Amino acid sequence: MISVERSVPDVRHNLCKTKEYSDDLPRTSVIICFTEESWSTLLRTVHSVLNRSPPELIAEVLLVDDFSQRDYLKEPLDEYMKKLPKVKVVRLPKREGLIRARLIGAEMAQGPVLTFLDSHVECNVGWLEPLLQRIHDDPTNVVCPAIDAIDATSFEYAGSGATIIGAFNWEMKFTWNGIPEYEARRRDDESWPIRSPAMAGGLFSIDKDFFYRIGTYDPGFDIWGAENLELSFKIWMCGGSLEIIPCSRVAHIFRKQQPYKFPDGNVKTFMRNTMRLVAVWVDEPYRDIFYSLKPQLMGQEYGDVSDRIKLREELKCHDFQWYLDNVYPALKVPDTKVRARGDVRNAATSMCLDSMGKGVLGMFPCHGEGNNQAFTLTWDDQLKHKNTCLPKIKTPGQLRMLGCNMASTARITHIKGETIRDASSGKCLDLNADRTMAIFNHCNGSKAQRWRFSRYFDRKGRVIP
Ligand code: UDP
Ligand code: MN
Repeated sequence: MISVERSVPDVRHNLCKTKEYSDDLPRTSVIICFTEESWSTLLRTVHSVLNRSPPELIAEVLLVDDFSQRDYLKEPLDEYMKKLPKVKVVRLPKREGLIRARLIGAEMAQGPVLTFLDSHVECNVGWLEPLLQRIHDDPTNVVCPAIDAIDATSFEYAGSGATIIGAFNWEMKFTWNGIPEYEARRRDDESWPIRSPAMAGGLFSIDKDFFYRIGTYDPGFDIWGAENLELSFKIWMCGGSLEIIPCSRVAHIFRKQQPYKFPDGNVKTFMRNTMRLVAVWVDEPYRDIFYSLKPQLMGQEYGDVSDRIKLREELKCHDFQWYLDNVYPALKVPDTKVRARGDVRNAATSMCLDSMGKGVLGMFPCHGEGNNQAFTLTWDDQLKHKNTCLPKIKTPGQLRMLGCNMASTARITHIKGETIRDASSGKCLDLNADRTMAIFNHCNGSKAQRWRFSRYFDRKGRVIP
């Protein structure tokens, strides 16, 4: 019932409304990949592009159909789009997934700039010019509009208001974060581009030559997921920059579930893509932080990445440490200088140390999922679980983790697969009588006093095999 050509509130900052742009902005091909998209949301996406972009800046609109099965997306869509200028429907003969569908669209594109959009968005007033201006200024600028929200049930347009950066956590999941102080200081006013460590992935413009120069997407990625971080890291590490342009606003429907299936299941696809990302772009010791949070992924296959590693070498890209220092110094980095990390397995029972969700040292079957069983042993001899440390041993019996403070934490000595010893009392970590808790006892050389962390490191953070 909502017009496919409805108007939307102009939510831009006032400073944006009077900005002037070069009269020789590059033209862009708009690439919209879709699979099983709803009719009205797809149409509204296309109309909003055509209605709110200067026609001379649009080379074409490529609608790449990733093998949709719904009938209305077949002939009726062709018929409808024939009436619109510049729109081409491209049909893929099999399901490729978003990533490869975009690459096919990019291959066909005629314009010097590629603009990727999701198939359920609405471009707001003046969305395109500020994006193209930044690419005109420097073709290694990759730019994202600020993403507003369209309510998935009422279709109400809600400006997002807050200015934020795209970021990620150490599970390599994309997140939004506040603008770091150094970035806020760099910007003169609210209309300035925001340098962003990462992009959400759905909406951005990129110079076509630059996109190819940095090797587009990893073609070994499947369907959807982690491609946004792959591109983000690569843009920054290989000579470009990534910005959110607050004067450019595009609204996206954040839907509760996807209308399509992942042939291999979404978790598996997402994890495999993420492992490829980590293998190529996230160097040690940071790679191990990822695996310490996702230990169940250790040793899982993710295919061949040698071409991507070669690409990184040929492009002489900066390393991940450079990225952290120069692009995202505000990111909190967990302890990287550790001697050992992972779960801590007892030789007698093959059970693992477990904080039991309440900061004690219990014993529990090893589950390989980190969380309550993720411990570290630091180079300054502290046994840690998340932000807690094992305190000095004062009384026998149950051990309880506390805040970390060198003055009050226990000094632990340990050799791979051997005892975990409290340096001040000389006692060894052992099992209690019913083997449900870890406690300190006199060292007696028994099997119950032998422990092994999942991984050990040298001083440079390299895994000791
Ligand atoms: N898409 C696609 N093929 C796929 C999966 C997704 O073409 O196998 C399209 C989808 O129709 C949408 C875009 O890729 O236009 C992004 O997917 P989605 O909107 O589901 O991701 P989200 O916005 O939820 O991150
Ligand atoms: Mn989407």
